[in-house]
Amino acid sequence: MIPKQPPRDGQPGFLYLPPYRIHGLSVAGEHTTITVPELGVTFDMGQCTRASLSSDLVALSHSHMDHVGAIPYWFSQRFFQKLEGGRVLCHPEGVEPLQRMLASWVDVERQKTPHEIIAIEPDSDVPLRQNIGIRAIETRHTCPSLGFSIIETRHKLKPEYRDLPQSELRRMKADGDEITTNTEIPLIAYTGDTDRGDFLERDEFAKARIIVAECTFVDADHRSRARIGRHLHFDDIAELLSTWEAEHVVLVHLSRRTLLSEARERIATLGDDADRIHLLMDHRTNRRRYEAQLEAVAVPDSEPNAG
Ligand SMILES: [Zn+2]
Ligand SMILES: [Zn+2]
Repeated sequence: MIPKQPPRDGQPGFLYLPPYRIHGLSVAGEHTTITVPELGVTFDMGQCTRASLSSDLVALSHSHMDHVGAIPYWFSQRFFQKLEGGRVLCHPEGVEPLQRMLASWVDVERQKTPHEIIAIEPDSDVPLRQNIGIRAIETRHTCPSLGFSIIETRHKLKPEYRDLPQSELRRMKADGDEITTNTEIPLIAYTGDTDRGDFLERDEFAKARIIVAECTFVDADHRSRARIGRHLHFDDIAELLSTWEAEHVVLVHLSRRTLLSEARERIATLGDDADRIHLLMDHRTNRRRYEAQLEAVAVPDSEPNAG
């Protein structure tokens, strides 16, 4: 008898939530790597996906193996592919142990792979590009942990200065006058592995347009397990939906034993909010959604070509 072929595993989940693609793998305890190509950021590095290699920055939520296991490989692959300047941001307490891990790889491989591990203090920002930065927010897990929010800052001229000539405005700015009001717009937030806490209701999460949230447990009987492991349960997400203004909430880090059918059923009970929720690893639903997006922009055959 011929043995069966191995299961096809490791296919990354994909969602197009305009203008962002959310691309990655995430199963509790196995691996989590979530890339937003448009912002050049990957959250966590449990497995080195192809999409993650083009991110210049990896933001680590915490140091459990399923979130950091592929860091040496990521640096190594980037070096191999001649991609320069990759950085990993992590909790200040995580820097030294990660640097030791990477240093021991030098001995193992007998060659030196360039790497940069940077501490990000809770409540501080690291700039990504003009007017956009990533902010770390302390969360609560079984080890030091961070959530992240990618925030755009918009500068608007104060109304009282609207009629002044440019030269005058430039002079005032040079003198250090505050001539603009700054508004923060959280674009995408990521909870990482975390227990429930007030920090999830801060503006960085509450006002984010997209939230990628861990949801390790779905079963109604697993609430206490969620609390013990310091994870979010589906019931927590359901409650947070009234605070979170996000148009899209992407659930990740479901346990391997959670049936997608069960998760879909729970989502359906949310009524109007159900449309806001996506499961990153629900390939079938997400493929259908993507096909509908393609169809919506397709030019019908019968329509004459305009141009
Ligand atoms: Zn995890
Ligand atoms: Zn964890």
